[in-house]
Amino acid sequence: MVEICPICHLPKNICTCDLRSKETQQIKIRTERKKFKKYATLVTGFKEDAEGKDVLKYLKKKLACGGTMKNDVIEIQGEHVALVKKFLKEKGYNEELIDA
Ligand SMILES: [Zn+2]
Repeated sequence: MVEICPICHLPKNICTCDLRSKETQQIKIRTERKKFKKYATLVTGFKEDAEGKDVLKYLKKKLACGGTMKNDVIEIQGEHVALVKKFLKEKGYNEELIDA
């Protein structure tokens, strides 16, 4: 089954929406100190839509750690700013627009 793009309604394998949005996606990565001296890595710039959920799933898998999405902020357990940046770059996001 080919997935259909919700934006241009073309099959995902020929649509270029993802590529276009990835090139212009502004992303911010920072850490936040949580309770009990634990840190979380917060990634902003995504919405709680299919893309945001996909990125959350991808980062959780790559980093092998827990994470959630709340109010359009992806929260990953631990300090992973450099790795999150690397993985987002690998996923096709424009490194120059990633503020980390
Ligand atoms: Zn599309």
